[in-house]
Amino acid sequence: MKRILVTGGAGFIGSHFVHGLAGADVTVLDKLTYAGNRANLEGAPHTFVHGDICDAALLAEVVPGHDLVVNFAAESHVDRSIDGAAEFVRTNVLGTQTLLQACLDAGVPKVVQVSTDEVYGSIDIGSWDESAPLQPRSPYAAAKAGGDLIARSYAITYGLDVSITRCGNNYGPRQYPEKLIPLFVTNLLRGRKVPLYGDGGNVRDWIHVEDHCAGIRLVAEVGKRGEVYHIAGTAELTNKELTGRLLDACGHSWAMVKPVQDRKGHDRRYSLDDRKLRALGYAPGIPFEQGLRDTVRWYADNRDWWAGA
Ligand code: NAD
Repeated sequence: MKRILVTGGAGFIGSHFVHGLAGADVTVLDKLTYAGNRANLEGAPHTFVHGDICDAALLAEVVPGHDLVVNFAAESHVDRSIDGAAEFVRTNVLGTQTLLQACLDAGVPKVVQVSTDEVYGSIDIGSWDESAPLQPRSPYAAAKAGGDLIARSYAITYGLDVSITRCGNNYGPRQYPEKLIPLFVTNLLRGRKVPLYGDGGNVRDWIHVEDHCAGIRLVAEVGKRGEVYHIAGTAELTNKELTGRLLDACGHSWAMVKPVQDRKGHDRRYSLDDRKLRALGYAPGIPFEQGLRDTVRWYADNRDWWAGA
């Protein structure tokens, strides 16, 4: 049976990935920050290790014997990185390097570093392919770019078989209610207003978390050493358009929207060209309308999960 280590597996995307690993022997290593929640893993067979990817001694115990390591562990919220960048650099750069070193020392045959389109900065028209220059504009994106570059260096310098995935904005159940969709939905379910940044014209490309996980699984199987693979979204929308859909889904009007000052350095638009992964057989399966409807229903049905957040 394949042994798989999922770091950051108690968070939003990592927990969906773990639930999709039927038939594997799974270890989850997670620091359980505010974003990590063991309840996210209920029903998914796994061994849980409470720990930090910056802890080399712990990794030396946990990593050996795994056939695949997938790294989701990160500080992941841009606004928090603007308030304080240090923890982002620590986990997303130093933690990634510490984990990669442990994988190298243990002879792990395959590693996947999960990353984001935000490392490229902002693009007004067209889409980035995997050779686009990294021009991050927030501390979060810069720290993720640092982790990606360390991964690339481990592939080239030491021959570690690590592939990097970069994905657009994820949505789905169990996303901590600080990111746009769960924040807006839970506010509306509570009868509270939603804060819309600036003119609402920032464009994001949305992907259901299950499609993202399917792309990562494919890269884990067929991804080449040191290569980057894009996993693009299925719905490019301005934040204003998305807000309109969430208001409709929750039965509210625009009176529930409170315009707020724009985020510092707010990227205008992200867009990934994912032809490389599609040529390997990847195709997203969840239409945005259906995924969003199901996601809103999940938050309505699982108030206990987010009530304390
Ligand atoms: P999340 O914030 O929901 O989860 C992060 C998890 O990592 C949490 O369980 C947390 O406890 C854990 N963690 C944080 N620091 C740690 C450390 N030092 N050691 C061990 N565990 C630690 O994040 P997410 O949205 O699930 O994102 C997962 C990954 O996917 C991140 O690397 C993120 O950059 C990337 N990504 C996210 C999106 C998105 O839209 N959410 C899009 C593209 C890429």
